[in-house]
Amino acid sequence: MPLLRQPLLLLARSQQVKKLVTAMPVSAGIVHNYVPGESTESAVEATAGLVDDGLTVTLDFLGEDTLDAEQAEATVAAYVDLLEQLAARGLTRKAEVSVKLSAIGQALPEKGRKIAIENARTICRTARNAGTTVTLDMEDHTTTDSTLSILRELRKDFPETGAVLQSALHRTEADCRELAHEGSRVRLCKGAYLEPEGVAFQERVDIDKSYVRCLKVLLAGQGYPMIATHDPRMVEIAASLASRYGRAQGTYEFQMLYGIRATEQLRLTETGETMRVYIPYGTEWYGYLMRRLAEKPSNLSFFAKSLISKK
Ligand SMILES: Cc1cc2nc3c(=O)[nH]c(=O)nc-3n(C[C@H](O)[C@H](O)[C@H](O)COP(=O)(O)OP(=O)(O)OC[C@H]3O[C@@H](n4cnc5c(N)ncnc54)[C@H](O)[C@@H]3O)c2cc1C
Repeated sequence: MPLLRQPLLLLARSQQVKKLVTAMPVSAGIVHNYVPGESTESAVEATAGLVDDGLTVTLDFLGEDTLDAEQAEATVAAYVDLLEQLAARGLTRKAEVSVKLSAIGQALPEKGRKIAIENARTICRTARNAGTTVTLDMEDHTTTDSTLSILRELRKDFPETGAVLQSALHRTEADCRELAHEGSRVRLCKGAYLEPEGVAFQERVDIDKSYVRCLKVLLAGQGYPMIATHDPRMVEIAASLASRYGRAQGTYEFQMLYGIRATEQLRLTETGETMRVYIPYGTEWYGYLMRRLAEKPSNLSFFAKSLISKK
């Protein structure tokens, strides 16, 4: 594990550091590399631009670990507003939404599961009425069972709901087998959280080997794999496995984050692949930014330099 990843991922959970970083106007500079803006309008505008370039999109209203039912409701309202604005602009054929269950009530005491399911249903129903879909983001390993069980519940009424699995976890190859059935949309990523040895691979090479094993299961299966990675090796391996398993373009897709490897996103589109860009937006960008910095320490030095030069 790179030296800086662990402390940065720990900071991503620190309320004190969050307060400090978000109060500094300079943080906006680096944030804009990864987040097009804080308003729904800025997210819809960014979507329209990417769709014009032939890309597809999934949007994430930033926020996580909500312990307040009203805040969870506000997040649902933000998704409803977003979906209505996307529909009004004729963008829902190309743009869907990604939702973190912890942002819509999963972690609330006692009734968390029930509230999260109800809230997710509202978003799924609005998405379906708008002609699009929802994918449930995956958070740290303590939530995996709960998230997959809520996914199963939601899929009874909304089978189009997408799942996310993380190759860092030991369990994921088995989860891929379970979810590689017809109609099942599954995003495979490496995993953005700091996870303990008991449940997760610790070395990059083991996470990558697991990613390839999971890719094989998903691409050989009957579902719709969503290959979420910026890793050139994984992209190349996925493309060659897709061809080995006789997968036509459009029966799977690639996904990358907004602002990361934008040229590669366009290149893949030009080769006929479906490329979906994950656009996060909103005021709660702190945890997201810290996870991106943890993945790319060169961005951290850029961030630190900009802090110093503003003093
Ligand atoms: C669409 C999408 C959705 C995601 N959803 C989730 C989720 O629900 N849950 C979750 O835990 N995680 C999610 N992630 C994050 C994911 O788990 C990883 O943390 C993140 O994508 C980094 O892993 P990687 O596969 O891109 O490559 P890494 O292993 O981080 O990097 C491998 C190589 O990729 C290239 N690369 C990586 N980052 C950059 C960069 N910034 N600029 C240029 N090249 C770069 C470099 O060549 C690097 O050596 C998502 C990622 C994507 C793309």
